[in-house]
Amino acid sequence: MATNAESLRKILELEHKKGYVDSAVIGGLDRFLLNWAGQAVESITSPHLLNRLHKLHLVNSSYASLTKQQRKDWVKGVLDFLAEVEPKEDEKGEAKLTPVVSRPPSKARVQRTVVSQSIDSPITAARGISSSLATKFNKLGVKTIRDLLYFFPHRHLDYSQRKSISQLTEGEEETIIANVWQAQEIRLGGRRSTEAIVGDETGNVRVVWFNNPYLAKKLVTNTRLVISGRVSLFNGRHVFESPEWEFVEDRELIHTGRLVPLYSLTQGLHPRQVRKLIKEVVDQWAWQVEDFLSPELKKRCNLLELPQAISQAHYPDDKIARDTARVRLAFDELFLLQLGVLNKKRDWQESQPGSPFSTKIPMLDTFLRSLPFELTAAQQRVLEELLADLQKPQPMSRLLQGEVGSGKTVVATAALLVAAANGYQGALMAPTEILAEQHFTTICQLLSRVGHQEEGEDYLHSYSGLLPHPLTVALLIGDINQVRKQELQQRILDGDIDIVIGTHALIQKGVEFCRLRLAVVDEQHRFGVTQRSALRQKGFSPHILVMTATPIPRTLALTLYGDLDLSVIDQLPPGRQVIKTKWLKPGQRDSAYAFIRRQAASNCQTFIICPLVEESEAIQARAAIAEYERLSREVFPDLRLGLLHGRMSASEKDKVMRRFRSGELDILVSTPVVEVGIDVPGATVMLVESADRFGLSQLHQFRGRVGRGQEQSYCMLLAQNPSEIARQRLDIIEKIQDGFALAEEDLRLRGPGEFFGTRQSGLPDLRMAKLSDVGLLELARREAIRLFEKDSALEKPEHKLLAKELARVWPEAGEWS
Ligand code: ADP
Ligand code: MG
Repeated sequence: MATNAESLRKILELEHKKGYVDSAVIGGLDRFLLNWAGQAVESITSPHLLNRLHKLHLVNSSYASLTKQQRKDWVKGVLDFLAEVEPKEDEKGEAKLTPVVSRPPSKARVQRTVVSQSIDSPITAARGISSSLATKFNKLGVKTIRDLLYFFPHRHLDYSQRKSISQLTEGEEETIIANVWQAQEIRLGGRRSTEAIVGDETGNVRVVWFNNPYLAKKLVTNTRLVISGRVSLFNGRHVFESPEWEFVEDRELIHTGRLVPLYSLTQGLHPRQVRKLIKEVVDQWAWQVEDFLSPELKKRCNLLELPQAISQAHYPDDKIARDTARVRLAFDELFLLQLGVLNKKRDWQESQPGSPFSTKIPMLDTFLRSLPFELTAAQQRVLEELLADLQKPQPMSRLLQGEVGSGKTVVATAALLVAAANGYQGALMAPTEILAEQHFTTICQLLSRVGHQEEGEDYLHSYSGLLPHPLTVALLIGDINQVRKQELQQRILDGDIDIVIGTHALIQKGVEFCRLRLAVVDEQHRFGVTQRSALRQKGFSPHILVMTATPIPRTLALTLYGDLDLSVIDQLPPGRQVIKTKWLKPGQRDSAYAFIRRQAASNCQTFIICPLVEESEAIQARAAIAEYERLSREVFPDLRLGLLHGRMSASEKDKVMRRFRSGELDILVSTPVVEVGIDVPGATVMLVESADRFGLSQLHQFRGRVGRGQEQSYCMLLAQNPSEIARQRLDIIEKIQDGFALAEEDLRLRGPGEFFGTRQSGLPDLRMAKLSDVGLLELARREAIRLFEKDSALEKPEHKLLAKELARVWPEAGEWS
């Protein structure tokens, strides 16, 4: 039983080294022991030894259920027994059950204790990292040892379940432990490769490594190997093709037989090499990472210690350990993000004096009373929130969320009037020119109910009777001719114009304001930190209101826009209907057209959305122009069709929109430009072509374009060949009307990366955190606020490490360093 004894001893020693956590052997000790004891019994001839062995109860051991102390005692007992029964040197090799060629022990690992090096030293400080290797790592953004510790695998291969050769299943990722019977160099597809036959007690299997002839020499007959990889079938027999492999030694496995990390690498870095390096660096340095979270916080939030989390994120004991590690690391990211954002907010609020507005303005009441409808309770509440902000000396920074059609514009208009009444300028910015024009029209219409419109031009309207001077509203878009534009810009600079409406280009260079104190940004959820600070440069710290119909889940909004306060119009004006939504199979196209025709007969209009302007190979979608022509000629020759796409000039677009809005057109064929904001009360049908290409939030936006009037409205979605995930989306949009519920689903399906790139928002990257970790997000935010309330400058001694960490991840927030 010599070899058996030796392998058991090694495992128990490893178990001892690892602190009795039952991690020395894949699948747990109990399973191993059962197997081991079975083999041992067969090979033991002395009844005396057999008796002693039985007393150890290895066959029905219950190591897993022992306490730590019991495990310790038990391991010691077995080791003592083994010491007794292990053969003398000269007997070695004779009684082996499974022959093993002993390999020279790998170079003893020397613990380097060079004092001058820290985890912030360049990676060359780590053993085995040459400067040329370091250059390759640098390309991955890994410069210091800390970077390497935080260079987490993008996923793990699960090679933790060992199979015997007879249990292998074709197509599965499997792990075996086997002996090399024979290994040789062969030619496969003209390339020098290695072929080996390996076996265990249940059978043999062929293993090939393409393109790697050198392995043949390493795989000496009788060597014991762990092999992990996908099993395929060749000539009716199982074969491993270029699997991961490593020798069975008393070292921890890193490529096989466990959860094996996969790193995103660059040219010149090889997975095995990187795994080996990272394992060494993790073993040697992870414990030196200072844990910047206080013990109380960790306890309260049930978080792992940082060094442990780092090492388990690379080489987890099991899936649970990996997930627990991720939670800790993700928490760190979100928590630091929150602290950074909170700090930024305090920063600009305190350092930049705003302009408090007076909000007791008779004109505001007149305006609100003149509206053709009453504000909903939600609009009322949000308006009050805005007014409260505007009165404060700190500039407002508020995100206004409201479902499509919830009436954000009128609330924004009220705020703009308050700015004007205070003698300041206000700006309203939309993502597209069409939308800017629509806002201009809407606001002018509302104002003409209360004020007297003076002589005006297309882009400039004045209303008297509201303020001591005529209230002037201008539209500034790329379409106006140069001379007029310059004239407008000059008047904006002179302070002649109270309210400027335009696209986001307003915040770009060229437009100077005289006294901009309120900026409203419409329909923009990608209006990140950077843009906001650009805007702050424009005016003397203007109040900022960002409006979006993309219903971002609250926690997500708070994370990414943590520097903004949040207002939500969570109620639609009365009488809004449920829009009947149907996902149509390709065969139902004709009945969709028949439906559109019937609607047109009762004066109801239709949007038809096509994904692209030009035919494109990549996307098999119908081009709007071709579609427009086809529909006009072949399908609806008797109806009035219009075309809208992004390559038309703004005035052409405007003309078409006007005709559609006023009912001169029955059908508007459009590219997705119509996505946001456009308001046509007479439209009752939305037909979306290639609906499978759009995300849920986008589809919801399209749907929001109809149902603005009294008539029942419909949304029809056509999809040629939807993928599985697209099918799920289409199912969901059919069933769910509520934008917020849809956003949650969207987030779940698409993941936050696509839903909401953090990059655009100007915030640090999240590596471990997923924005769908709602619970963790909330926790991190709560803890950040709690900390911020107690010690916002992080001056207390117990927050020193945290302050240091923050200064590292948010270097621009100076006062923490
Ligand atoms: P969104 O929030 O999508 O920007 P809008 O501001 O464009 O919505 O408003 C959508 C439509 O609802 C507009 O025609 C607007 O006049 C109308 N509206 C806004 N508020 C109300 C209200 N309280 N009652 C009835 N209709 C309203
Ligand atoms: Mg709007």
